[in-house]
Amino acid sequence: MSFNNNNKRYNDYSSFIKKKFSERVQKISLNTGFTCPNRDGTKGVGGCTYCNNNTFNPNYCKPSKSISEQLDSGIAFFSKKYKTQQYLAYFQAYTNTYADINLVKELYLEALNHPKVIGLVIGTRPDCINDDLINFLSELSKTYYISLEFGVESTLDKTLKMVNRCHTFKETVDAYERSKNKGLHLGAHLIIGLPGESKEDILNHATKLSKLPINTLKLHQLQVVKHTMMAIQLKEKPEMFSLYSSEAYIDLVTEFIALLRPDIIIERFISESPAHLLIAPKWNGLKNFEMVAKIDKKLVEKNLWQGKHYVENF
Ligand code: SF4
Repeated sequence: MSFNNNNKRYNDYSSFIKKKFSERVQKISLNTGFTCPNRDGTKGVGGCTYCNNNTFNPNYCKPSKSISEQLDSGIAFFSKKYKTQQYLAYFQAYTNTYADINLVKELYLEALNHPKVIGLVIGTRPDCINDDLINFLSELSKTYYISLEFGVESTLDKTLKMVNRCHTFKETVDAYERSKNKGLHLGAHLIIGLPGESKEDILNHATKLSKLPINTLKLHQLQVVKHTMMAIQLKEKPEMFSLYSSEAYIDLVTEFIALLRPDIIIERFISESPAHLLIAPKWNGLKNFEMVAKIDKKLVEKNLWQGKHYVENF
């Protein structure tokens, strides 16, 4: 096999960004203050059992501020660290397509009107997208980089039910089918280690995800954080959980990579919830870049690479 320009045994995100934009690009997280259909009673209440949105909301993004104000604050923060760079407006918290469609469109346009913003990254649920919005984003993609990321989280309905996602894997497949070939960069999130999933189940996610028209994948180890239903479950029924040590996770992820379709770009390997919110597993504050180095090393040791065990049309 030949490795990519970054000498990685998988398609890494930073090589993709360098090739695509030829300079540093920073995402600025935004909070629209929208909700989710499994929080507001439309499909359920309480949200996903693992979810605490405070784990990924930086201080500068508060829904009380306008999108332009949040962008200004975020850009002011990052421009102190890095001189020249471009920015992507990252609609991250909650379900960012779940509101009145005119309001949603207005907020996207407000972000793109910012002189330093070159595109959008929109995180949402697979059951919260419609053709009107897809076509709107498709038009925007003729001028801007538009990434649409769906929270897949698991390809097993029994797991999706257990964690109160209130959507099925079939709805995930449908969302990607409707969004493909529209000029959009399609992303997926997956949580590794949700309750009830065996190692085999997790490796099967790689095979099933490889059949979807995704460009980018973010992997996250399950983290149990404070103020969630899972925090209560972990206390009351710890036998529900098999949380991975960092070593076991690295081993599993390398096998996962080997099963993954070779062209998928891997954007992240782990979550990094703030230490004051994290209950388990505690990996001594291991950062994504440190995990990347350990995974790179393990891939060499095991002589694995992305797609080594991928079977097309399987
Ligand atoms: S994980 Fe996403 S869909 Fe689930 S409750 Fe949290 S923000 Fe809503």
